[in-house]
Amino acid sequence: MAKDKNFEVSMSDDEWRKKLTPEQFHILRKHGTERAGTSPLDHHYEPGTYYCAGCGAPLFVSETKFNSGSGWPSFYEPVDGAVETETDRSFFMTRTEVHCQKCGGHLGHVFDDGPQPTGLRYCMNGCSLDFRPGDGKTEPKKK
Ligand code: FE
Repeated sequence: MAKDKNFEVSMSDDEWRKKLTPEQFHILRKHGTERAGTSPLDHHYEPGTYYCAGCGAPLFVSETKFNSGSGWPSFYEPVDGAVETETDRSFFMTRTEVHCQKCGGHLGHVFDDGPQPTGLRYCMNGCSLDFRPGDGKTEPKKK
């Protein structure tokens, strides 16, 4: 995540540790990745909204979710303005990292092999998401 940026929701590691499960902390705050196929949200297609498990900001709606076959929950488009990206050169690859605009929590990566209408594949850690039922279409307004 962008360490030099001030996010609207900002807490120390100790504070985040109290709020999150160990796995959520590892992924959201330490740029971790859950094992493929382990998230109950991978093959979850109920209508609703996926919120940031760190700060509660709405990130994705179910209408944009698709089965990528990757083993991670995948979406073709985030809620408008909900996420930011930056270049990730770890593991000898160049990828585009995706994090929550509000708290900077690491969510996953975005690739350009997704379906239309965007052609993008937001490959997300289910652990970083918190699903709540809804119509799955309305993009909840931020804040
Ligand atoms: Fe967040």
